[in-house]
Amino acid sequence: STLQRSSSYDPCFVTKMKNSGKNVIVFYGSQTGTAEDFATRLAKDSVRYGMKKGMAADPEEFEMDDLARLREIENSLAIFCVATYGEGDPTDNAQELYDWLKDGNSSLEDLNYAVFGLGNKTYEHYNAMGRFVDKRLEELGATRVFELGEGDDDGNIEEDFVTWRENFWPAVCMHFGISEVGEDVCSMRQFSVTVHKDIDREKLFTGEPARLHSLVKQKPPFDVKNPYLAPVLENRELHKGGDRSCMHIEVDISGSKIRYDAGDHLGVYPVNDPELVDAIGQRLGADLDEAFTLTNVDEDASKVHPFPCPTTYRTALTHYLDITSTPRSNLLKELVEYASDPADKDFLKKLTAPTPEGKEQFNSWVLHDHRTLLTILDDLPSFRPPIDHLCELLPKLQPRYYSISSSSKMHPTSVHITAVLVEYTTPTGKLQKGVATSWLKLKQPAGEVQPAIPVFVRKSQFRLPFKPTVPIIMIGPGTGVAPFRGFIQDRHIAKKEGKPVGETVLYFGCRHKSEDFIYADELDQYVSAGTLTHLHAAFSRDQPQKVYVQHLLKENAADLWRLIDAGAHIYVCGDARHMAHDVDEVLLDTVASEGKLDRSAAQDYLKRLRSRGRYSCDIWS
Ligand code: FAD
Ligand code: NAP
Repeated sequence: STLQRSSSYDPCFVTKMKNSGKNVIVFYGSQTGTAEDFATRLAKDSVRYGMKKGMAADPEEFEMDDLARLREIENSLAIFCVATYGEGDPTDNAQELYDWLKDGNSSLEDLNYAVFGLGNKTYEHYNAMGRFVDKRLEELGATRVFELGEGDDDGNIEEDFVTWRENFWPAVCMHFGISEVGEDVCSMRQFSVTVHKDIDREKLFTGEPARLHSLVKQKPPFDVKNPYLAPVLENRELHKGGDRSCMHIEVDISGSKIRYDAGDHLGVYPVNDPELVDAIGQRLGADLDEAFTLTNVDEDASKVHPFPCPTTYRTALTHYLDITSTPRSNLLKELVEYASDPADKDFLKKLTAPTPEGKEQFNSWVLHDHRTLLTILDDLPSFRPPIDHLCELLPKLQPRYYSISSSSKMHPTSVHITAVLVEYTTPTGKLQKGVATSWLKLKQPAGEVQPAIPVFVRKSQFRLPFKPTVPIIMIGPGTGVAPFRGFIQDRHIAKKEGKPVGETVLYFGCRHKSEDFIYADELDQYVSAGTLTHLHAAFSRDQPQKVYVQHLLKENAADLWRLIDAGAHIYVCGDARHMAHDVDEVLLDTVASEGKLDRSAAQDYLKRLRSRGRYSCDIWS
């Protein structure tokens, strides 16, 4: 693929660094590109601070054993920008780095290092990977040059990073006894642009994530780099009233060789709203149909192009780049010079300055007010960055994940998902639409015409117990019920095959019984059939006081404990921000009171359940 390593690829990063006169290497463990972006920026920084050149590196491409050889380069430094994913896991590309650190016993004496971790405080295992890498390198004898930095994606991760970096480089200079040169000098471009005037249109990428024409000439196996263009068989509204929308979507996977299990996730590659793309092109005065290539100016970089090239600006803004999130401050900072009105330029400079006032203003004007690229272009009419520079700096559009809401035992040739339409009004009164869900909303099969969406299955750890006789307790308010529909279908098939099936208990919650009790009829049928042994539903807005799933759990504490004591598996799905914590708290109370344990023993008890796979969460914020 065009995104792969460049021709100067060498499996030994030390050799590569020696050959290109570098002494700083920044490894990234990145899932969505943020850690990679931070790594690239740190690598660019190094010359400013009297170090030699730096390089950002994907740990998957190199032998970690060579870390012990980095001491061969004078004043060398290894930086690790690593994100924590899911339940405290490393990102896919840092899995080998993690295993190497965990099992390895190399001596890393004389290795100078620093770690910046990226995490999200909504989740329980906050920055587990960053903390692990930092601790493990020290245990292996390496020298920590600066304290572990931690960024919180639930807050302002850019600010956390910038604040850490401001103190990090002076500490590096001090460590190596070099005098600091660095002021924040002009920003260097990472990519150069080539415009293709007469290119064969067949050679242009048109939205495929990696291989040219992969969405036209479909070849299994299908995965994140090679999605399957799945026909949408059904897309129906699940809410019976109210002003929100929840979609039940079924896609056809027959003939694709795609396999899935209940509990897996469906990855979906969304497409940006063409009206927004046109509006950006129009504001920038750009020809969106011009074909171009962005090429990394650093020949040693792992990535030659930031996204599949050659392509057109229209395709890049439609399929490859995130144009609707609030931009990070470094994007605006790098583009300040393109504000021609001195007042606009001054405003952007202040907004992106690493001062307390700058941070405060950025938090308020960009983050709180939820300004996007387009609203910023509207609010600052003289700010007109060239489109190629902008494309270099915008974050990549990410696939969205949905908990699969079907069982492959019942539906081997289709995958079902349950998605809430995201739509809200920003504090400045603009209607903001979720990229994937508003695009999915339009994917309605009509007559002969079946729209298709690029998808892939991502395996998860969220699994039914191996034996159908084991009791299960499922807690899933709102869309959190999605994977449980799959679990129940699975057990229903087992029951029909004559297998003994254990107690199957569901706690569901919604606002109003008559509006958003999704899948109510199906669930009732499973109750009648005896597959779903108990259905507890909490309606939060049908009476003056709130009733949530955890209130029902509390009421049923004795029965809950009976099931847990009998070996039940507990599952929680849905909102990570509040619900999962509140439910965890009630489970803790239940184990303590019913199991006659003090709080810390009850905590240990739940921890053991988690480590044995008897208490699992599939949560998102
Ligand atoms: P985006 O364009 O990504 O916009 C969403 C963003 O807008 C939010 O992150 C938030 O920053 C902001 N936002 C949203 N609402 C508001 C508001 N009211 N006020 C201010 N800002 C707001 N979703 C489901 O519907 N069903 C599922 O089964 C499901 N399963 C998931 C499983 C996993 C493992 C993960 C990680 C996520 C899951 N999601 C699920 C969420 C889903 O992946 C998408 O995030 C969601 O559909 C929104 O995507 P979007 O592109 O439409 O919105
Ligand atoms: P929902 O309909 O908003 O909520 C389902 C039920 O849960 C409602 O009855 C709600 O009650 C209740 N609830 C609220 N707070 C709770 C708590 N602390 N503990 C237990 N129950 C609680 O659910 P949804 O639309 O399916 O969304 C689920 C969650 O996922 C939401 O929190 C949402 O923020 C998140 N989500 C995020 C995205 C995204 O874009 N990233 C997309 C979809 C969903 P009340 O509302 O009456 O308080």
